[in-house]
Amino acid sequence: MEPKVERSIEGTNDKESISTLSHCKFRCPDCLTLYEVSADKIRSFAPEFECPKCQCHFGFDYPPSNPNTILTYKVSPQQKQIQKSCPKCHHLQKESLQICESCGVVMENYLLIQQEAYPKVSVELIKSWQKIIQDYDNPEIHTQFINKCFKMNSIDYALFKYQELGKNIKNESSTESWISLINQRKEGLQKKVAKEQIEMQVLRNYKNIFKWSQLKQWMVWTPVLVASFLILFGFLSRSHRNSIGVGIFLMILSLGFIAFRRRD
Ligand SMILES: [Zn+2]
Ligand SMILES: [Zn+2]
Repeated sequence: MEPKVERSIEGTNDKESISTLSHCKFRCPDCLTLYEVSADKIRSFAPEFECPKCQCHFGFDYPPSNPNTILTYKVSPQQKQIQKSCPKCHHLQKESLQICESCGVVMENYLLIQQEAYPKVSVELIKSWQKIIQDYDNPEIHTQFINKCFKMNSIDYALFKYQELGKNIKNESSTESWISLINQRKEGLQKKVAKEQIEMQVLRNYKNIFKWSQLKQWMVWTPVLVASFLILFGFLSRSHRNSIGVGIFLMILSLGFIAFRRRD
């Protein structure tokens, strides 16, 4: 006979060195019922059991110093460490732990996401929706949830949850008022976004036309014009022959700049 509940304190898997005995026989310290547990089910240095007969909670040290007479001891409720298994990897660990010590998942969040019908939504929003379920008549909580959905760009999640809820409860009108509110805000937001996009487009065009193409062209070709003027001026005025040299120098410099400038 095997105890129904096997609980282990540490949840360690390190039993390489102790697997010499295949079965452990031991008695409940209260009612002395004899139990047998296969050694490969024991995953702790202090496995704990609950006697199905008298509900006594007891444990023993593993591996036992004498396998033939395993000494068991009672575990008081204060000492008892209720354990839970990770929903993802099923590793058994302390109840108080929030992050699985084996696979590193946040267990509560993992469960929430598993139970959520809507694909890929943040845990924060799932929790926010749960608050609505707990206190449905409080409009403030609804507003908080809807605000969050808008902020996190998950308006469709809000619509989905209210529609789903509407199908499940008989009084659909209460969800419909929230749905129409969401749709109104959604429409307003879409208009605002469209307007902003147009404004951005205009601004971008403005930049393109004035700042870049025109200004750049002027910056590139102005030295060439100045150089041409200097050369012409040098030919026309005898006392300013020097400006021919300066003009040619400037011309070569700016043509070289034009030829090798970065194209984009
Ligand atoms: Zn017992
Ligand atoms: Zn895990």
